[in-house]
Amino acid sequence: MKKTLFVTDTFQRPIRDLRISVTDRCNFRCTYCMPKEVFGPGYQFLPKDELLSFDEINRLARIFNSMGARKIRLTGGEPLLRPNLDRLIAELAQIPDLELAMTTNGSLLARKAQALKDAGLDRITVSLDSLDDAVFKNMNDVQFPVKRVLEGIEVAEKIGFSPIKINMVVKRGVNEDTILQMARYFKDTPHIVRFIEYMDVGTTNGWQLEEVVSAREIIDRIQAELPIEPLDPNYRGEVAKRWRYQQGHGEIGLIASVTQPFCGDCTRARLSARGQLYTCLFAADGFDLRQLMRRGTPDSDIEAQIRTIWQARSDRYSEIRTENTSTGARVEMSYIGG
Ligand code: SAM
Ligand code: SF4
Ligand code: SF4
Repeated sequence: MKKTLFVTDTFQRPIRDLRISVTDRCNFRCTYCMPKEVFGPGYQFLPKDELLSFDEINRLARIFNSMGARKIRLTGGEPLLRPNLDRLIAELAQIPDLELAMTTNGSLLARKAQALKDAGLDRITVSLDSLDDAVFKNMNDVQFPVKRVLEGIEVAEKIGFSPIKINMVVKRGVNEDTILQMARYFKDTPHIVRFIEYMDVGTTNGWQLEEVVSAREIIDRIQAELPIEPLDPNYRGEVAKRWRYQQGHGEIGLIASVTQPFCGDCTRARLSARGQLYTCLFAADGFDLRQLMRRGTPDSDIEAQIRTIWQARSDRYSEIRTENTSTGARVEMSYIGG
């Protein structure tokens, strides 16, 4: 029988979720994540041997699972740019008691969804910041059309990934006027749009508090046309606050990490593309687990190291965020995923 060696941090938070960035590369240049001015031609992405190998990811996933992680989300960068990702999924899918999810920009989904399903992926989240083509192209900054992301969602739905979560980061003056269009489009479908407050992740996106559209404002804008009411969370620590339409059916989520932080229930550990463990999205540094593995450290010692780090964890960045904290060093989102 599998032994679970639970661990909790200084606020009694266990490890429940592990987010794994499988690549730091992306084919989009979303202005809030990988702005072109920084991630332009000549930007040095990690060479292949710096990335965790599939065997290394699989090994760490099993160690985290033995410590209580029950959900793994593959992310990036754009995870579908990592060659043969379905092979990794097939290995991770063997781990018992584990939900396997992925967050993708959807650009390659139509082509790859079937292989992901066959390999054993359970859930997909697709990021789509607007249904207005001009607005979307401006946000992804590589002129990628809405139509191809919608095709990806459609194919994924047909082969059984349903409901699909759709992530929309809302940025003041950029896509706020397309909130209602997004809500209308996915209302009465099984899919769940999650409106996300623009966050000060990394240091390259030039984040300013004025550019955040609060969850409250997003709700008010939707309420004005489509009455909604709050729903209870599905489980403790659910990041998105759930709402449902009062007429017809359908559900939306609000991720209010700036105006209504949820650090108290944060059970997420993150592994960067090069194998560093981060205990917070806003951390400056991570602990190098790759080096431990490449030095031949046994599983028991790696587990002990993770335990020590997690037990000392006191992260609550979003609860203590001020204009000043957001000037400190922070890892980029594309290294550790969302
Ligand atoms: N490339 C994939 C994608 O876009 O879905 C996966 C990685 S991406 C970093 C994961 C999620 O983080 C996406 O839904 C993205 O919109 C979100 N994200 C990135 N930068 C953000 C920011 N500054 N504020 C809020 N969400 C952000
Ligand atoms: Fe790429 Fe995702 Fe970041 Fe956009 S949000 S640049 S798609 S990693
Ligand atoms: Fe978790 Fe850090 Fe986000 Fe708080 S700020 S919810 S501790 S990742």
